Amino acid sequence: MSAELLPTMDAPLLPTYARANVTFVRGDGCRIWDDTGRSYLDFVAGVAVVSLGHRHPSPLAAAQEQLDRLWHASNLYYTEPMAKLAGLLSTRVGGAQAFFCNSGAEAVESALKYARKATGRTRIIALEDSFHGRTLGALSATGQPAKWEGFGPLVPGVSFAPANDIEALEAAMAPSGDVALILLEPVLGEGGVIPLELEFIAAAAEIAAESGALLCADEIQTGIGRTGTFLASEQFGLKPDLITLAKGLGNGLPIGALLVTEKALGGFSPGDHGSTFGGNPVCCAAACAVVEAIDEDMLSNVRDRGAELAAGLASMPGVTGVRGKGLLLGATLDRPVGPVVDSCRDRGLLVLSAGQGVLRLTPPLVLGPAEVEEALGIIRAVLATG
Ligand SMILES: *Cc1c(COP(=O)(O)O)cnc(C)c1O
Repeated sequence: MSAELLPTMDAPLLPTYARANVTFVRGDGCRIWDDTGRSYLDFVAGVAVVSLGHRHPSPLAAAQEQLDRLWHASNLYYTEPMAKLAGLLSTRVGGAQAFFCNSGAEAVESALKYARKATGRTRIIALEDSFHGRTLGALSATGQPAKWEGFGPLVPGVSFAPANDIEALEAAMAPSGDVALILLEPVLGEGGVIPLELEFIAAAAEIAAESGALLCADEIQTGIGRTGTFLASEQFGLKPDLITLAKGLGNGLPIGALLVTEKALGGFSPGDHGSTFGGNPVCCAAACAVVEAIDEDMLSNVRDRGAELAAGLASMPGVTGVRGKGLLLGATLDRPVGPVVDSCRDRGLLVLSAGQGVLRLTPPLVLGPAEVEEALGIIRAVLATG
């Protein structure tokens, strides 16, 4: 039997994910099709990745054109898409230099290394319930002990403070003077869609500045328009020293970035860090098209559709709370979330879970009011049966 004829669920894949038994073969806009021809409304969007929707014409054309021209050179040279993307991102965040890599975890690794090198210090402060990735450094800075099990010893020097607890953050900084980095997600995504409070973020920025530590906003999930502004940090009045990006940046092509804003420049010299594939021309060409597409119209669509979705969820029997920003929304339920995710999929809607029993919605940013209604109808029907 040829490999193609084996059922996909028998593929020799390491069981790192509890995959649903569905195989996707095609996408278009907010919809995705499985290998039986069935279509689903996609409110997962590859976990906040396919922000412009599947096969959006702009990144598609940009990537196709670049595929036809040059796939790869090396970071020993310049390529046009990488230079253009660095310029676009710098403009959007008010001045920054970029390091490009291939994933969120790599962007976080870059931030950890940058902070240690730039400050000459070693300690890192992160938040309980945070998520920063699965490589050893990023995992060590992820505040979810269950994810550490079996992988120790972790990278030393990391302390955790509960989100939105300023005193605990101050306590975690002590003894002062040796903290290189405070790392935070403006809205904890994987941890359960928990927005940080304005005062907490302001205090974190002040504490970092006073102590000479760098502050990194991990905007891998919240960035590139997901929360209704280009960066979520904008809504908190936060001007981070470092910014990590990935998920939505390439609309599905793998790309991550560390942005070092102007006040924190100077930490890396040639040879300090690198990535063979980082800044790949095809991924950068697509990412340029994505960044250019996140304009004021798109951002106001994110805010409007997000508000409709949040209001619809909040009024639903079975929903005990709704939180998040823009189109990064979490609903707490009066029942376990796993079966709700499965029933929604059975009825043609892809949704996610996050943290402890939170239903998470991360639909494409291009979503329309009709799709919001359709999704709310399916969730309402699922909750009514349980
Ligand atoms: C997804 C995520 C990461 C890790 O990204 P990968 O591309 O899976 O390595 C890091 N930080 C945050 C906030 C994320 O949501």
